[in-house]
Amino acid sequence: MINVDPVELEKFSALAHRWWDPTSEFKPLHDINPLRLDHIDRLADLAGKRVLDVGCGGGILSESMAARGADVTGIDLAEKPLKVAQLHLLETGRKVDYRLASVEAVAQAEAASFDIVTCMELLEHVPDPARTVASCAAAAKPGARLFFSTINRNPKAYLFAIIGAEYVLKLLPKGTHDYAKFIRPSELAAYCRSAGLMVTGYTGMTYNPVAKTYALGRDISVNYIVEARKPA
Ligand code: SAH
Repeated sequence: MINVDPVELEKFSALAHRWWDPTSEFKPLHDINPLRLDHIDRLADLAGKRVLDVGCGGGILSESMAARGADVTGIDLAEKPLKVAQLHLLETGRKVDYRLASVEAVAQAEAASFDIVTCMELLEHVPDPARTVASCAAAAKPGARLFFSTINRNPKAYLFAIIGAEYVLKLLPKGTHDYAKFIRPSELAAYCRSAGLMVTGYTGMTYNPVAKTYALGRDISVNYIVEARKPA
């Protein structure tokens, strides 16, 4: 059984042509990208590394990691966002190996092959996030760094990530996120440990609606990144 929800793929496919428009539904991804890119680069040193970007979509993170000198493979199960990602390479002249593939398939075909695995804003869209984490772990080399970002599950996260972002500020289309699929940091950490990974840190991502700016920091109550390492 493939670990994917076709309704979720359709949501992203329908919007795919606007992926690289920084004023579109993907504005939040464009806005947070420099922050998460610097964070990954600081912790894992992207230059020269083989990176697997799981659920890469239109390639905002994949391309930016390639620009830092990483050898990036971007995978997604939605065709349209991948086509957009591929086309965008023509504009920038960057190189990313985009593939329509599940992380489960890549983990089997290329076990223990990647120095860095990124899986951003994906886990809250898959039926079995623990399995996705386990597959990311299987694709990672011993000693690899892994980065997972998702949304916490608590009343504040409901208020900010759904009511705030989808209904009040209209940063995201209504129905982008399903509260029941949000994941507590403790749950994500447990998925990592079950997959044989060591959790090395938690980083919050916050949005200031007045200044309209994002920041990374300690507040993991809504959006957050879990950093993990595969034992050497
Ligand atoms: N990681 C990117 C895009 C996040 S949007 C970024 O942060 O910039 C979520 C992406 O996950 C979409 O492109 C969607 O098509 C993809 N997706 C959803 N379910 C998936 C699955 N089971 N396997 C792989 N990709 C999936």
